This record gives sequence, structure tokens and C-alpha cells, in this order.
Amino acid sequence: MDVQRGLLTRRGFCLCCIGGGFAAAGWLTPREAFAEARGLVSLIKDSAAVSPVKTHKLRNNISVLEGSGGNIAVLTGPDGKLLVDGGIGVSRARITRALADLGREPLALLINTHWHFDHADGNEWLHAEGAKIIAQENTRKHLASIQRVEDWDYNFLPSPAGAIPSEVFAKEHSLKFSGASVGLKYYGPAHTNGDISVTFGEANILHTGDTYWNNIYPFIDYSTGGSIDGMIAASDANLAAVNNDTIIIPGHGTPVSNKAELQQFRDMLVAIRDNVAKLKKEGRTRDEAVAARPTAAFDAKWGQFVIDPGFFTRLVYEGV
Ligand SMILES: [Zn+2]
Repeated sequence: MDVQRGLLTRRGFCLCCIGGGFAAAGWLTPREAFAEARGLVSLIKDSAAVSPVKTHKLRNNISVLEGSGGNIAVLTGPDGKLLVDGGIGVSRARITRALADLGREPLALLINTHWHFDHADGNEWLHAEGAKIIAQENTRKHLASIQRVEDWDYNFLPSPAGAIPSEVFAKEHSLKFSGASVGLKYYGPAHTNGDISVTFGEANILHTGDTYWNNIYPFIDYSTGGSIDGMIAASDANLAAVNNDTIIIPGHGTPVSNKAELQQFRDMLVAIRDNVAKLKKEGRTRDEAVAARPTAAFDAKWGQFVIDPGFFTRLVYEGV
């Protein structure tokens, strides 16, 4: 593998491949969660490298692509193609094919729900193919500078110029695209400090970014401003924004969801936060809290993906 190039691009900047060198350089500190944490980033990348990209047609010319990191929404029409999130660079060929199958319209607009690599790694090539990139202002800051995600034990270099959003906003932004009303809204700190929702008004479709993971425990990025309380607040905002007919696109997990499933996610977060907060208040250490299995009632349903029960308990413990 081309390690030099890997060091210079976000896409290839993978501590798990070159950890020895960086340990010597002082970038990599030994920590107990490392094996698990490095597994997370590589697992998502490795999975994207071999995953087919599957298209689910929703309504009003809106589809969702599954199989390259976060779920990607696509709106197709006379103004071209609008994407919500851009997946991982290794999926470029498969995403290109899936987009071509949706129509011949050129790429026009890419909205980033937040800065994480499994949503924004595709920025560079999508921009090169013609997409203007819009995001919340903190997302641009994160993409433009070195980021360390402590709980992944992972450092990301600044993105190349073409991958940086050219238009940002603070709280809200709305636009018309091929006649559709598209609403972008900042959650406040939630999964990171740059998360936004994207609403397709007439179609009644909501893309939640990573404030909602369908049927799986979510990652929470404390290193860039996320917290369990922020995730719960975002879940409440999501619930307030939908009705029983809304199609909800989660950041991860089964890509076509609904209000009832979102409610279960929110209730799971609240129950586990309360369980973990109680243990912490009693003076239990983080490891003792994990050993007490405060997520036990939820593990069979939610604990089957990369964020396992112990990892999720530690993430919640950090924020209570
Ligand atoms: Zn994320």
C-alpha cells in the first residue's frame, strides 16, 4: 500500500495500518479501548470497500443509497442531483453506478450532515464532479483542520481544498431544488457540534444524520462536541419534526425508518442514560459501570453492530 500517500489524505489516513510508526512519533497512546476503537474505523472502511451500494426508492424522486458508511439521500430532478452525505471514497465506483441508475442529471449539490469520514469522505470526488458543498459552520471547521477523535483513537488530517464546504450557515438554511423545499436545521451539539437535519417538505422525508441510528447503538463524538444529553435533545427535536407518515432516513442502520422506531431509539437513550447516571452517582468507576451491564435489557436489539454494549456504556458514562 502507498503509505506516503495514505499519510497525506484523509481517506487513507489510517492509524491501524501504520500504528507502529505513529506510536514512535507520539501520535498514538496505548489505551485499553484501542483495539476496539481502531476496529470501529477500519470496520466501517473495510465494510464500505466490499459492500454493494443498494438503492431504496422512497417518494418524489428521492432515494436512499445504503452501503457506504452513512446512509445517502438523493433527490433527482431538473436542477440535477442533490445528495445528503457523500459516503466513503472507496465506494466511488459503486455510488457512481447507483447515481447513474437514478437518471442522467449531473451532480449539483452535496449537503454534509456533519464532518465524520463515513459521511464526508466522498466530498472531494463529488465536488470534482460538480457538486457544491453546504454544511453547518462547525462542520467546515472540522473538515478544514486536524481532528482527533479520542474514542476512535484516531487522527484525521485536514481535507483537501475541494472537499471543504463552500457555503455554511449557523442555525438554519432553506432552498428550493427542482421545485422541492429543502430545509437544513442545526441541532446544537448532539452527535458532534455540527449536526444538521435535512427535511424534504413536500415528500415528508427527514434525514437525521447521525443523531439517529436505527436499531443499533449510536456513536457519540465527545471530541468534537457530542454528548448523550445532546443526542437525547436531538431525538426530541426529530420526534417533534415528524408525523406518522414521515419517512425517516437515519445516519446508520436500516435506511428507511419511521416515527415509531425513532421513539424506541429515544426511549433507549433515556433509559440507558438514567441507568448509567445512577451507577456513576453511586461512585462506580467506568469499568465497574460497564461490568454492571446497564444496557442489558437493550443489548439483544441494539448491541449487534460496531458500537457494542461496553463501548456504548463508556460513551454514556463520559457524559453523565
Ligand atoms: Zn458520525
